[in-house]
Amino acid sequence: MALTDTEIRKAKAKNSADRMSDGGALYLSRPGWYDGRTKPWPSPAPWKHAGNGSCDVEIARREVRQPSRRAKICTSDEGLKDMSETAVMAEQRTHEQKLDLLAEVAVRVGLGLQPGQELVMTASLDSLALARRITEQAYRAGASLVTTLYSDDEAALMRYRFAADESFDHAAKWLYDGMGAAFKSGAARLAIAGGNPTLLSNEDAGKVGRANRAVSQAYRPALELITRHEINWTIVASATPAWAAAMFPGEPEDVAVAKLWEAIFQTTRINADDPVAAWKTHDAELHRRAARLNEKRYAALQYRGPGTDFRLGLADDHLWLGGGTTAGNGLYCIPNMPTEEVFTTPHKGRADGTVTATKPLSHQGTMIEGIHVRFEKGRIVEARASRGQEVLQRLIDTDEGARRLGEVALVPHSSPIAASGLLFLNTLFDENAASHIALGQAYTSCLRDGDKLTPEQLAAKGANDSLIHVDWMIGSGKLDIDGITATEVAEPLMRQGEWV
Ligand code: ZN
Ligand code: ZN
Repeated sequence: MALTDTEIRKAKAKNSADRMSDGGALYLSRPGWYDGRTKPWPSPAPWKHAGNGSCDVEIARREVRQPSRRAKICTSDEGLKDMSETAVMAEQRTHEQKLDLLAEVAVRVGLGLQPGQELVMTASLDSLALARRITEQAYRAGASLVTTLYSDDEAALMRYRFAADESFDHAAKWLYDGMGAAFKSGAARLAIAGGNPTLLSNEDAGKVGRANRAVSQAYRPALELITRHEINWTIVASATPAWAAAMFPGEPEDVAVAKLWEAIFQTTRINADDPVAAWKTHDAELHRRAARLNEKRYAALQYRGPGTDFRLGLADDHLWLGGGTTAGNGLYCIPNMPTEEVFTTPHKGRADGTVTATKPLSHQGTMIEGIHVRFEKGRIVEARASRGQEVLQRLIDTDEGARRLGEVALVPHSSPIAASGLLFLNTLFDENAASHIALGQAYTSCLRDGDKLTPEQLAAKGANDSLIHVDWMIGSGKLDIDGITATEVAEPLMRQGEWV
């Protein structure tokens, strides 16, 4: 999942992560937020049943509590009536129409925003066009109030130029407390990702790290409401000039931005004839994959590919998750758009062998390339990178858990993101291009009854604990993965990057 990058700091479910660090932008990065009890869609189709979709207990509780909210979530025949009224075949849509569709899908499918609900959105000034479309769609969906916190890359850099050293241990706690208050009072949360992936690459890594830590601490109480999935939330992306320039160097700005927008539309299924139906089918498929893996209850996964020969044990009582989930407030949301992964919690003491990354990792504005590590008994004992070695080393030295794994995710090589052939330099996209593993914090939601376990119980089952959560890609069209049963029988799961 993506909190995009990284720092999920210690939020209890710790899943998601926040990207806040980038210069103060309030991104929630991704990862997913799933309640750990997610099951395949109940029938009838989930979009016709707002607030259900996953856990029976939750459904029962919510139906008692919020009967009137049923049927409010988007359906392709009702909720998106506006869209169908102006239905245009996918290939004939203009950019403006696609932007409107993206906003509508984000609000109604990703967020599951309900009439009367407040929305707290974060966006950079470079994402203004999408932020305004989302604002419009949120009000059309019945939002009571949309409040957007805008960030500005130039202003973020000024801190590194001119602020006193003590500044970097400081964060706007009042702001995060306010966000927490909004969430507690029922607000939904939407983050528009799309920052400059190299914004802080030339800044002092120590200051960047301190600033991140300060934000993580200040944001923790509010972030926990998200990582525990108590509210409905999602992350979508907007093309921005800086991001497009990083992805398409050498292209004129307008060309690069247009290419990036098209890549976003393609990978978030906005180019489908019926994007809502496409998301519904896709979400059901992710739930189906996760359910099948949960039936199998593999003890471990075995990876083989170029530079990779690796066995990864899964946590005791692990649960595979994928797709959307029902939040604690009863609303069904898909926290990351796009999302292509099914994922679970590995055992922090059971990783052995060598792993080679198949894509560069953009971490806190620095590119780490050519990552190759060796694990022994769950712990990284050797780590090399052809570029960004120092950042990688600092990352795994963050704390003891930073050398161990907190997530394992499977993504077919044919995912729309991999098919694009692009490196997005953004975890929200890149982690969904390939099977991956994450250093650091485990998702308690990926353990049976994980939310009820004490830290000691979680650790006993193998769930890792760390201030970081950093996804890195190890999948490719050359990677084979076997599931290893409790009796050591190997069953093929993926061959050449595809589900068997
Ligand atoms: Zn992750
Ligand atoms: Zn992931």
